[in-house]
Amino acid sequence: MSREETAVAKARLAFETGRSKCVDYRIHQLKNLQRFLTECRQEICLAIKKDLNKSEVVCELFETLGLEEELGLAIHRVKDWAAPRPVEKNLMTMADTVYVKAEPLGVVLIIGAWNYPWAVTLQPLIGAIAAGNAAVVKPSEVCVHTAKVMEDLLPLYLDKDLYPVVTGGVSETQTLLQQKFDHIFYTGNSAVGKLIMAAAAKHLTPVTLELGGKSPCYIDSKCNLAVACRRVAWGKFTNCGQTCIAPDYVLCEPGMQKDIIQEIRKAIEEFYTDDPKTCPDYGRIINQRHFKRIMNLMEDSTVAVGGDNDGDDCFIAPTVLRDVKPDAKVMQEEIFGPLLPILPIGGLDEAIRFINKGEKPLALYVFSDDTKVIKKMRDETSSGGLLANDCLVHYSVSSLPFGGVGNSGMGCYHGKHTFDQLSHLRGCLIKRLRMEAVNKMRYPPHTEKKLGWARFFILKKFNFRFFGKLLLVSVLALFFAFFIQRCFFHG
Ligand code: NAD
Repeated sequence: MSREETAVAKARLAFETGRSKCVDYRIHQLKNLQRFLTECRQEICLAIKKDLNKSEVVCELFETLGLEEELGLAIHRVKDWAAPRPVEKNLMTMADTVYVKAEPLGVVLIIGAWNYPWAVTLQPLIGAIAAGNAAVVKPSEVCVHTAKVMEDLLPLYLDKDLYPVVTGGVSETQTLLQQKFDHIFYTGNSAVGKLIMAAAAKHLTPVTLELGGKSPCYIDSKCNLAVACRRVAWGKFTNCGQTCIAPDYVLCEPGMQKDIIQEIRKAIEEFYTDDPKTCPDYGRIINQRHFKRIMNLMEDSTVAVGGDNDGDDCFIAPTVLRDVKPDAKVMQEEIFGPLLPILPIGGLDEAIRFINKGEKPLALYVFSDDTKVIKKMRDETSSGGLLANDCLVHYSVSSLPFGGVGNSGMGCYHGKHTFDQLSHLRGCLIKRLRMEAVNKMRYPPHTEKKLGWARFFILKKFNFRFFGKLLLVSVLALFFAFFIQRCFFHG
């Protein structure tokens, strides 16, 4: 058996022991993961520095802080999430117990990407543990140092049979994909996403695909440009543009372009000084392949800001491209780098038409002081998430489902959404062997009269909450009347 096959077989065996189903055991493992993040902070940050040139502060802000929050939430709420969830009843089931019970799926495969390697790999793991699954964790091979730390240190904290870490590249991932899983959670590009889904189809395994794409950003004429541009610049140039929900390009009216360029230039200087190459808060392109790909995307566009680069250092300065045409190279694929094309466009309607011509994006950004503009953009487009007047921060709201639609992915996660995504939501109806008379209407011989009763029981809508409240009020009124009678007539 290969290393990958052994890991999956062990995880399956460990799952079958049933220990991951015990909610206290899940909490214990989540607390161990918390401890791992605290005690191994140095190793985690050092690996991120070596892989992506992110400083310790940036590592904490963009990688581990969100994980700490998700862990705290899961530890605090997992008992509620795992408890039976009562649902509304109808006339047929009013005397029964009706609820949804989240149950573990089994063995989950988590395939992570390189751009936020801790966040995108461990966040699904938190949900997998909370939901009572076993999970095989496959970090991206592109972040060599991070993958090594995960492989060496995570098993010292977690149940290593239930949650093994398997490292490796395409061939190891493909061996993993030949095994049977109960869910595959993949983060990465859409082309590989299709391969993952094809492999999953062989075992009828459900998938969550957290993909990317070109996330548009419309800047309306009615808005505070300085604030809008600072937020766009932050969203774009964080992690050198290598963020799945980075605003990919800006759409604006032609007359606004000059001011937008000016404001974004100011924001770049404010964040990264006039020499971003030496600024500790500015990252690097992950490798030579991506460096060359991004440089190639700039070729047929005009640079308005930045453009400096250094291949040996995988450095590309924060760059703004002006008067970009829809058929420019930079508009043909997700940029995933520090280039911000500006496409002048004739207003909101044209922007909506332009967005709707492309694939459904992972995020859609709109900047405007006018709520009508925001609502119109929301109602006439589709995207994984929508954020008005800011960038990226919807990712940090655990109560919002995070995920794509169409080409940007399927399924969602964060907070309870991860728990539900990696659970089977089992519908449970618990009846008693009583009240058989009610069931006669469904047993043969079938008659018109019985059909009439069936129509009544199935179609009649009763507001049980209202009746419940009515009952409570009646009981209270009776109690009050009894009390008054005792006080005034017997006292
Ligand atoms: P990557 O190269 O790290 O690949 C992701 C994973 O896929 C890795 O673990 C890798 O081993 C595996 N893989 C690669 N080729 C494979 C193949 N042929 N068969 C099987 N497995 C294979 O990451 P990437 O794809 O370059 O990541 C960048 C993309 O991910 C961007 O499109 C970005 O938008 C997207 N992304 C999305 C999210 C999200 O939450 N939606 C988050 C981060 C990144």
